[in-house]
Amino acid sequence: MTHTLRYRGRFAPTPSGPLHLGSLVAALGSYLDARAVGGQWLVRIEDIDPPRCPEGAADTILRQLEAFGLYWDEEVRWQHCRYDAYQRALDQLIIQGLAYPCSCSRKQWQAFSVYPGWCREGLSSTTNPVAWRLRSDLAKRPIAWQDRLFGCQQFDPETLGDVVLKRKDSLWAYQLAVVVDDAEQGITDIVRGVDLLDNTPWQRQLQTALNLPTPRYLHLPLVVSNDGQKLSKQNKAPALKESADGIRQQLFQALQLLDQAPPKALAQEPPDIQLNWAVAHWSLEHLAATAHRPFQPEP
Ligand code: GLU
Repeated sequence: MTHTLRYRGRFAPTPSGPLHLGSLVAALGSYLDARAVGGQWLVRIEDIDPPRCPEGAADTILRQLEAFGLYWDEEVRWQHCRYDAYQRALDQLIIQGLAYPCSCSRKQWQAFSVYPGWCREGLSSTTNPVAWRLRSDLAKRPIAWQDRLFGCQQFDPETLGDVVLKRKDSLWAYQLAVVVDDAEQGITDIVRGVDLLDNTPWQRQLQTALNLPTPRYLHLPLVVSNDGQKLSKQNKAPALKESADGIRQQLFQALQLLDQAPPKALAQEPPDIQLNWAVAHWSLEHLAATAHRPFQPEP
């Protein structure tokens, strides 16, 4: 008997500020991909880096999702409650010889494009605080997978370097936390921006090492401003407008940016009507693999 895993997707924002149009496109893409097959859609707040996460930002994000009609299943998962699980995963990697402590400072290896692995065979200094890094040189290579939009991907992990799993200041790094939580939450499908495509090899290496299932991946083209910059919090992308008109217009724009060709009249409809249409018509074939798409603000 064949057993098909029930689709479980997620949106996993870092609460470093309110959602903008670029993050709405990522949230909407993962929501539609899940709902179009009757799957579940979860929200996880990736708040492992408190200095980057202003007070109240996570609540703002959750409120914005609701305002756009993007209701999630189950309870919101908060990464700040999961440190023990990340430590257990790191311990497992240490036992396997796949994680090592590193005392080098960025300044010491600034002449190299990636950290050259000096501490792999032992700490170069015993007085500095240590970060924990992944042995990318011990991964099976190449790391290859099929992206649902961008097609066959192949990376030599060593060229990406020994990514940090736990920082010198004891904060957990994204790569380890995301892998542990995606597995623990039974995520079958990851839909996110293509800026994270080259993070996927580390995540796949970690899944293999920790004996976790590997989800399917769909990376979405990024929304860029007219001057070619990624819409991001660092580039001061404006927060989503939350007036009723603003919501209708931005949701419609997000559907256009996902190449779903929504009928013009849909732009006047409230979120539930727009989303019902979009779930019924979700098409990956329409979504073109152009790594960047310029966003033209409405006049
Ligand atoms: N937390 C990451 C971000 O906001 C996304 C993580 C993911 O989707 O894997 O960029």
